[in-house]
Amino acid sequence: MAKKFTDEEIAIILERLEQLHPDSVCELNYRTPFELLVAVILSAQCTDKRVNQVTEKLFKIYNTPSDFAQLSEEELRPYIFSCGFYRNKARNIISASCDILEKFGGEVPGDIQSLMTLAGVGKKTANVVYSVAFGGQAIAVDTHVLRLSNRIGFCDSDNPLKVEKALSQIIPEEKWSHTHHLLIHHGRYTCAARNPDCGNCNICEFCEFFNKK
Ligand code: SF4
Repeated sequence: MAKKFTDEEIAIILERLEQLHPDSVCELNYRTPFELLVAVILSAQCTDKRVNQVTEKLFKIYNTPSDFAQLSEEELRPYIFSCGFYRNKARNIISASCDILEKFGGEVPGDIQSLMTLAGVGKKTANVVYSVAFGGQAIAVDTHVLRLSNRIGFCDSDNPLKVEKALSQIIPEEKWSHTHHLLIHHGRYTCAARNPDCGNCNICEFCEFFNKK
């Protein structure tokens, strides 16, 4: 069962996380919505640091949908090999590029439903691109957001869509995108999967995991 939080408690938790992680923004490097889309596809099961190393070189050579649509998977794979799952990622990046050219006139669409029609783009990727590149409000649920939401007690589910729904019901809409970044940063730098650093966490009193320990 998820814990019940009052609006005031949610506000305090978000304020405390902001104090702990004041620089919570997307850590992927990009210059255009398309570059962000490629970076997010590459970031599945990979660190942002590694993706940034790969895209720094890749985007100097290829950085538009037409560039990638003309590549074969075999040509793209060596550039993205170190991100892991490179076969699927190469296929998805090329297919999404073709979709953008054919269905959206070469521009990355700026709404979640259209983004999700692109090859290899699920709800999480669409939410990240929508919120980071287009300034929309959305809570992308990655592994950190999922773990933190369950540990704190915002929800009780390992289904990303259910977690997103639960979060969107308790977090004010104007804070959805920033909350996504706060939870990611808290998961990366304080509440790691194996060894949560509860001694340096400032939301212990609200955390279900901590209080059960
Ligand atoms: S108290 Fe511990 S488990 Fe709870 S959010 Fe903080 S670091 Fe994570």
